[in-house]
Amino acid sequence: MSIPFNKPHMTGRELFYISEAHHHGWLAGDGKFSKLCHAKLEEVTGAAKALLTHSCTAALEMAAILADIGPGDEVIMPSYTFVSTANAFVLRGATPVFVDIRPDTLNLDERLVEAAITSRTKAIVPVHYAGVACEMDALLDIARRHGLMVIEDAAQGYGAFYKGRPLGTLGALGAFSFHETKNVISGEGGALLVQDPALTERAEIIREKGTNRSRFFRGQVDKYTWVDIGSSFLPSELVAAFLWAQLQESERINAERMAIWQRYHDAFAPLEAAGHVRRPIIPADCAHNAHMYYLLMEDLEQRTRFIAALKARQIGAVFHYVPLHSSPAGQRFARVSGSMDVTDRQSERLVRLPLWLGVEAEQESVIEAALATFR
Ligand SMILES: *Cc1c(COP(=O)(O)O)cnc(C)c1O
Repeated sequence: MSIPFNKPHMTGRELFYISEAHHHGWLAGDGKFSKLCHAKLEEVTGAAKALLTHSCTAALEMAAILADIGPGDEVIMPSYTFVSTANAFVLRGATPVFVDIRPDTLNLDERLVEAAITSRTKAIVPVHYAGVACEMDALLDIARRHGLMVIEDAAQGYGAFYKGRPLGTLGALGAFSFHETKNVISGEGGALLVQDPALTERAEIIREKGTNRSRFFRGQVDKYTWVDIGSSFLPSELVAAFLWAQLQESERINAERMAIWQRYHDAFAPLEAAGHVRRPIIPADCAHNAHMYYLLMEDLEQRTRFIAALKARQIGAVFHYVPLHSSPAGQRFARVSGSMDVTDRQSERLVRLPLWLGVEAEQESVIEAALATFR
């Protein structure tokens, strides 16, 4: 591909910080760079506590433990998401209950959530697809009325807002991803945001193999011991050093991505007007972060032709998410609530276009190739 679908952006300071860590022998986690990243994440999100993890998957697994999810419990989530959203809860013995998505944002349809609640429901997991927020007021209200925890899969949501509030801080817990395909990256990486202060101390313990090591280092206890279940969820200091270079530039990164996003959006307005495609819909309450630019084609056949036409011009355009309810593991471990019609239909129509810093120079070719498939 001469124009790949994704190309990780380097800010230029990653190796500088990694060499500082190397020079000092800072290798294990929670050193200077982890602390800088925690402070920055807490500053930009206002979260009570931010904890780096080695992935968003790990942050979701921590959230499932913190929510006391166990065998027989049910957790409501969309089927149109990455596998980690569901796996985190299946690992605790719970059953994901899939609810259909909204046709406009492709997010969990809040109007269908209440019908999926049973006496076993423990939590709702909204996924902010493409960094566009779910209808959080409605979801939080449902959760409050039924005594459920809200855990946000904000993997794609760093730097995005709902009614001015940062994604990842609206529920009790929120999970970010810094995977190399996201906006701000460290290869593999993530963070858990803890908004409920009652959960912060246990979050630290679970992340540190079930020990009270963090309290020990703060001098709050005089010995460090095994106090709860947990695992090794923290990243190495080398990864945190890389991430620090990225977080320092995160506002610029998201702003530059937004310009690319907007250029696609303007260029494809005529295609939408002619009825060939549907462009992303951003509700007025949402300030997104230009994580993704996608188009919805008429049907699967048109999408297949579109991807092949771009590929013939060496341009990487991709689709994603085999809906979890139709995957082998989804059928084994989860169940659906109601119809999955919107999920099935939209997932067959969606195609993502290259969106990375540097694509600007070639964006005109992508736009031209896309427009040409409809002439
Ligand atoms: C990327 C992503 C994840 C997983 O993130 P990792 O950091 O790779 O574990 C989970 N959920 C969603 C919605 C994602 O987009």
